[in-house]
Amino acid sequence: MHTSITASDDPLLVQVERLAREVVAPAAPRWEHERRIGREGLLEAAALGLTALQVPTAWGGLGLGFGVKVRVAEILAAADFGFTMSWINTHNVAAKLARDAPAEVARAYVADLVAGRRLGCTALSEAGAGSDFGAIRTLATRDGDGWRLDGAKAWITNAAEADVIVLYAQTEAGAGGRGIACFLVDGRRPGFVREPAFALSGQHTIGTGGFRLEGYKANAAEMLHPPGQAFKAALVSINGARTYIAAMCNGMVGEALRIAQAYGESRRSFGKPLAEHQGWRWRLAEASAELAGSRLLVAHAAALVESGADAQLAAAQAKLMCTRMAERQLPLLAQAMGAEGLREHHPFGRHLAGARVASFVDGSSEMLLERIAALTRPR
Ligand SMILES: Cc1cc2nc3c(=O)[nH]c(=O)nc-3n(C[C@H](O)[C@H](O)[C@H](O)COP(=O)(O)OP(=O)(O)OC[C@H]3O[C@@H](n4cnc5c(N)ncnc54)[C@H](O)[C@@H]3O)c2cc1C
Repeated sequence: MHTSITASDDPLLVQVERLAREVVAPAAPRWEHERRIGREGLLEAAALGLTALQVPTAWGGLGLGFGVKVRVAEILAAADFGFTMSWINTHNVAAKLARDAPAEVARAYVADLVAGRRLGCTALSEAGAGSDFGAIRTLATRDGDGWRLDGAKAWITNAAEADVIVLYAQTEAGAGGRGIACFLVDGRRPGFVREPAFALSGQHTIGTGGFRLEGYKANAAEMLHPPGQAFKAALVSINGARTYIAAMCNGMVGEALRIAQAYGESRRSFGKPLAEHQGWRWRLAEASAELAGSRLLVAHAAALVESGADAQLAAAQAKLMCTRMAERQLPLLAQAMGAEGLREHHPFGRHLAGARVASFVDGSSEMLLERIAALTRPR
């Protein structure tokens, strides 16, 4: 699976390319048929250390930087967007617990997440609150030293199977962002009720679903961020998420382009290969140019995130442009394949569904435009 920025002699990335090409890409159509998370592929990802990339070495992780995560995300998404979402969400919970949780909480979960024995998810959205995060209604009320959680989450990556959950809840009805706190929720405890995974028109490898909390008890140490800090913590981590989602869009387009390029050399029409028809090859040239620009946007945002600089604008711009590029280019590249592009061992249809999802998660395109407008307004 060659994509120009990922061709690398870095031994880890070589292994990731092998995983993408030999494990994820061939299995992804079957996982989609079976409407499930690619759990066996995730175990192989964990064996390579991918669930431990940004987990500090003191917690058994690799302690690597954000840039590596972005490159891994692009390589894996070239094979399957949903699989990559599932992996990265578990990775993020492991890294967050190692970084932000009290040691006794991190000790209980990080090793299982890193080994792929348990899946993680991060739950902000609810049936009644998506873009408007401050409107969430899952309620946290004081219960002795700890907290009682009641409410329902929806549209959560990995919710079909995850049971280590970073969850945002309101501590003061009507308080908006300043009342929101962040908790660790263990899906094996009483009071956690999982809903069946959502039936969607594609991308079931994400394991999207929801769950209810009915009198769930969280102890004091399991509050990861108190009210007043949780909303801000969620917004800080979103710059990284926007950047890697943008990279995943580039991965999908890079793979679609590679397949179309190869097809254009072998398929003949009107006495010559498709690639010798100017009208046909210009389409691929445009995709290649747009992909190159999109990769520069991601590289810029990733460098800012990695260095700890303000990445809000760069990450929002990268995600907006890369998702749009993928939504435009994937159908055009599929068209360049003729009927052949419809065969399910090719990823065009799955990738297009992935690009649709990318346009919502971690800030819809409209929310990104709002952010970009606010950040570029003359003062
Ligand atoms: C596959 C999948 C996985 C997901 N994974 C997670 C996860 O792991 N964790 C999690 O917490 N959430 C997750 N989400 C939810 C995702 O974050 C939301 O879908 C997203 O925030 C948008 O919310 P919404 O779908 O409720 O749309 P709404 O907020 O209802 O918006 C509907 C439409 O109106 C637009 N809109 C809303 N407000 C405005 C405005 N002020 N101005 C202009 N336009 C506006 C939106 O952009 C959108 O196009 C996931 C979603 C999907 C589809």
